[in-house]
Amino acid sequence: MHPGAVWPDRHGSPVRSGCRRFGRCRYVGAVFHWRRTFAPADGLDSVVEAGFTGRSSARGIGPWSGLNLGGHVGDDAEQVEANRMLLARRIGVARDRLVFMNQAHGTSIVEVDGAWGGEVPSADAVITRAPDVALAVLVADCVPILLHDARAGLVAAIHAGRLGMTAGIVPRVLERLRELGARQLSAVVGPSVCGRCYEVPAPLVEAAAAAAASSRARSWTGTPAIDVAAGVVEQLASDRVPLEWVPGCTREDPDLYSYRRDGPTGRFAGVIVRRAGRPHDAVDR
Ligand SMILES: [Zn+2]
Repeated sequence: MHPGAVWPDRHGSPVRSGCRRFGRCRYVGAVFHWRRTFAPADGLDSVVEAGFTGRSSARGIGPWSGLNLGGHVGDDAEQVEANRMLLARRIGVARDRLVFMNQAHGTSIVEVDGAWGGEVPSADAVITRAPDVALAVLVADCVPILLHDARAGLVAAIHAGRLGMTAGIVPRVLERLRELGARQLSAVVGPSVCGRCYEVPAPLVEAAAAAAASSRARSWTGTPAIDVAAGVVEQLASDRVPLEWVPGCTREDPDLYSYRRDGPTGRFAGVIVRRAGRPHDAVDR
């Protein structure tokens, strides 16, 4: 990051002033909206890094302007791949060790054991035991969930929209992680559209509330709405998984992509990686 650039604050201030020294500058803005390193547990030479990208740097054009990481949303494929390369560099992994998903609002889980070549896996959750393999979930209103258990050497990324939360993808992934040996899971729930901004027909509210009562919400105008993230948090809490809920509503925060706000648009990512050893010495957060 050069001296003329502007760092957003922790909550992703939308300040994107041009670089006074160099004019329009692709380095303006940080890659991450939120990022944290989870310190090693006692006796473990292993850390977990988790984060959520922001719209950030002055890349892309039109409705995808910013750091769009989503394919199949109408953006230029080369630009998307360049953005994914940038994210891999910022995390400090090779591009083929940054694994995305072809998400389908289902409950399929894919387990990855190393570099992934070719087509991205079709799934709404991905799990790995391999160090230095970063798992990414793409969202533009849905809930990105990152799970980790450094002692068991496991991390996971989950995509949970209304359908996925209702279908129980979160408890399904928790069950699979425990089958793989997880005993001390923690979760990070990323920014998503809030309940006040997610008005839906009443029958959909009832279906979601049957899966997690906390998802029942009211919109800004008092109409039926769903708070998918609240439902996810209820599912995690009922399974005794400690969690951190990163604040922010995608529809209200211009640093985040939101389909509800903008229609066709890009996707930001939740990303998690476990490192065997000291954390990556990130230079641009
Ligand atoms: Zn909102």
